[in-house]
Amino acid sequence: MSSKKQELLKTLTMKELKEVCKNNGLKGYSQYKRNELAKFVAENTNLSIKQIENLVNKLQEDKMATKVKDSGDFILRKAVKIESNDPELIIASVDSLKLKIYNLGTPEFSYLCDGKCKDYIYRVKQGQSPFCKHYPAVIAELILQGKLDPSVTIPNHISGKSMDALNEILEKRKKEDGAIISEDRNIENTLKSLKEDLMEISCKNSVLAREKYHETPEKVFKTMIDDSFQLLEYETILNRRNEGWDLLVLGTYAPKPYIAVVDCKPASLGTYNFRNNSNPMITLKSYCTDMCKEQLMGVYKDYVKYMVIVAPDFPEEITQFVPQFTQITGGIKLSFLPVSTLLYLVECYRENPILTHYNSETLFKKDIITKEDVDELFKVSEEHIAELCTTARSVLRSRMTEICQHHTDACYIKLDEVFLQQIIEEVISILNPHLLKQGVNGTTGIKTFSLNHDYYLLWEKVLNALTEEFANILKEQSLLQIKRSDLKEDIIKYLE
Ligand SMILES: [Zn+2]
Repeated sequence: MSSKKQELLKTLTMKELKEVCKNNGLKGYSQYKRNELAKFVAENTNLSIKQIENLVNKLQEDKMATKVKDSGDFILRKAVKIESNDPELIIASVDSLKLKIYNLGTPEFSYLCDGKCKDYIYRVKQGQSPFCKHYPAVIAELILQGKLDPSVTIPNHISGKSMDALNEILEKRKKEDGAIISEDRNIENTLKSLKEDLMEISCKNSVLAREKYHETPEKVFKTMIDDSFQLLEYETILNRRNEGWDLLVLGTYAPKPYIAVVDCKPASLGTYNFRNNSNPMITLKSYCTDMCKEQLMGVYKDYVKYMVIVAPDFPEEITQFVPQFTQITGGIKLSFLPVSTLLYLVECYRENPILTHYNSETLFKKDIITKEDVDELFKVSEEHIAELCTTARSVLRSRMTEICQHHTDACYIKLDEVFLQQIIEEVISILNPHLLKQGVNGTTGIKTFSLNHDYYLLWEKVLNALTEEFANILKEQSLLQIKRSDLKEDIIKYLE
């Protein structure tokens, strides 16, 4: 009995075996090596063979889904080339590696990942893993190019969770290619996962990360922070590699655009501190300068103004690093963003999307960003939009009053094309640069207007205010005017 169990358990990694011990209340396991540990678990656990089988299968399924997810990078970087495509033999390259897939979708299937693929040499060839991450990348590219229809030919070893993961990658690539418009950008779902899991993930809950997201908590955390800033309508650039900064947040819509370099630091104890790092500021400085600012050209260099560290929470004393960082980077402001504040910010914003990149910039100027700072930001933003509304209304009113004085009778306010255009332009220029950007087309010399559609709620507020003001002006004139209309004048003339 226990030897069958042992055989099953032997397929697990050390980390997984320890997790089994933890979850099943087994103690005194830390002394063992992998095979001894498998034996120890087999002899001491209450789990039945069937239960162990299910556990092993589930872990294996999750592991394969993780591997498929890992292949996503190749697809998004367009690193896969299909060189020939016959039913018996598909030849493809992934970066510099060459793959040969024989008899895809049949029981005679086999494949070769040539060259320096360690995973293939040490795990696939030894039968410990059905494929390396290069295999799903080729499958995905075949599907993208329409050379493989997975509903007709089921690619070997990819089904269930692995297939879901593959579809997710295909979806992402198609979106980036602009081939499909994302339905509602999935805001609701993303927000829901953030609310449910971001805090746990930031504390490195590896079981949750693996079972629900098929990745390490570090990677899931990075993706979730990216999602958060996107929900705040920032443009972002995600670094998919493990080195360097994690994310660039672009304040594109601000009159003076800015870039915040983001570093994501999950922490299993719930609080992040610069432990085990003798000079943490040097590393962070190189993220901002060598790996970002120095890579950019001209005016873009000056956009790099902020560095933000995101973690579950921070100790108060961490702010002591702020002045030092500003000094060594020649003026880049360092700030700390606790996950709870970020979540609060995202939730408030999705309920009331009135923040602009211009107003939100104040957050990056704080040391530790708090919920109170978020409340203050919303207050300032409300005031800002109210002010815009007031100014727009008063411009509209003063222009209209001018017209009404000279060109109005009992029926009509009369204005010509030129005047109408003038009014519209004057009102619009109030909204520049916060709700739109005005410019001039370099070739034609014609004025251009770029409207920020992400600021739809702000537009709604301003336009409602203008509509109300306009209707008020008409009403006032209607009550005021007794001067005869041209028609009435004419008719009277005839009657005389
Ligand atoms: Zn490989």
